[in-house]
Amino acid sequence: MAVEIYKNFPLRSLNTFRINSYAKYYVELENEKDIEELLENDVFKTERKVILGGGSNTIFSKPTIDALVIKPLIEGINILSEDDESVTIKVGAGENWHNLVLWAVNQNYSGIENLAYIPGTVGAAVVQNLAAYGQTLEDVLVEAETIDLDSGELKVFSKEETKPAYRTSIFKDKYKNRFLITFVTIKLSKIPNYDTHYHGRFSYESLERWLKEIKEPPYTPKDVAMAVTMQRKFKLPSTDELPSCGSFFVNPFVTVEKFHELEKRVDKLQHYPITKMEYDRLDWHDTGQDEIVKIPAGRLLEVLGWRGKWIGNVGTFDRHALIVVSNGKATGEEILDFANKMKQSVLDTFDIELKTEVNIV
Ligand SMILES: Cc1cc2nc3c(=O)[nH]c(=O)nc-3n(C[C@H](O)[C@H](O)[C@H](O)COP(=O)(O)OP(=O)(O)OC[C@H]3O[C@@H](n4cnc5c(N)ncnc54)[C@H](O)[C@@H]3O)c2cc1C
Repeated sequence: MAVEIYKNFPLRSLNTFRINSYAKYYVELENEKDIEELLENDVFKTERKVILGGGSNTIFSKPTIDALVIKPLIEGINILSEDDESVTIKVGAGENWHNLVLWAVNQNYSGIENLAYIPGTVGAAVVQNLAAYGQTLEDVLVEAETIDLDSGELKVFSKEETKPAYRTSIFKDKYKNRFLITFVTIKLSKIPNYDTHYHGRFSYESLERWLKEIKEPPYTPKDVAMAVTMQRKFKLPSTDELPSCGSFFVNPFVTVEKFHELEKRVDKLQHYPITKMEYDRLDWHDTGQDEIVKIPAGRLLEVLGWRGKWIGNVGTFDRHALIVVSNGKATGEEILDFANKMKQSVLDTFDIELKTEVNIV
């Protein structure tokens, strides 16, 4: 059957903020044949393209998205090669990320267990360079297979070519909506590598506590994934009850000098030296500074009174100021207005410009 392009398609159930926008055109792609057909379609040739995964990091800013919204549903987890120590797998971009983690830990494969229970798809995990609890997608990424939506050609990006960095990659800025990721190849370890540390620095006490409740060490990747899931369920709002995109802003980087100034004004301000985090490609090299530190945006927002604050249909989670939430009735515009107010107050008070982590369409 020919690939079907829908007109004026409702997007509310396709984004975790439950924004009630409509796509001018919408198409789902299940396989390579669907892609081939789409490339020949007139709507595809004339309209702007927007790629949508699970919609857990996307804000629709207008009631109508004047574009062809393309949703890859390509599935499949296939082993490409393996030896005694590792296994290399190729995964369809439309696979649910958490299901992939469950698949991996059920085989006792290690490398993504700390990334359990993060919403979204495998394709978007590359876009975002997904990270949590000291693990980052780039640690296991081998390559991403894509279709260039401009030329229709297949292009494979090596890990380095995806330019993974802190919560971003080349697909989140320069090549946004240009290359459709179809398959992702990752390499997992068969040697259990239990790690609940933040880049080798300190241990996540919360995870250690859950692990102790689960069982005695030694721990398997499955135990770690379970502890991470328990902690995330405890710490984060369910998007079914409180629609959100998780963290709205990325944590800012400041000079050590700036951090010392802030420390005097903000009680309990943590900091993480990014030189230890191997984010080599960050533009802080251009600042001429010897060391830059990452500070929690949530703490800055909290001291400014944003934790649990609501304006109309939009608010922040009462346990974390960085998580913007809605009552399910908010438009994208209302959410962005609220976030801009947060951003402005941090700029006015601390002279720090917060950058959005979410993708605005
Ligand atoms: C409660 C909650 C907790 C979260 N916790 C974390 C966390 O701990 N760590 C973290 O890193 N993120 C976290 N996130 C953010 C989010 O889960 C990730 O960014 C995830 O990768 C988004 O996946 P998605 O499929 O929903 O992406 P979408 O929102 O659909 O898309 C995100 C971006 O990727 C692009 N894209 C999607 N699929 C493709 C594709 N196949 N090819 C090319 N481009 C594509 C889209 O155009 C868009 O720009 C959290 C979100 C929520 C709601």
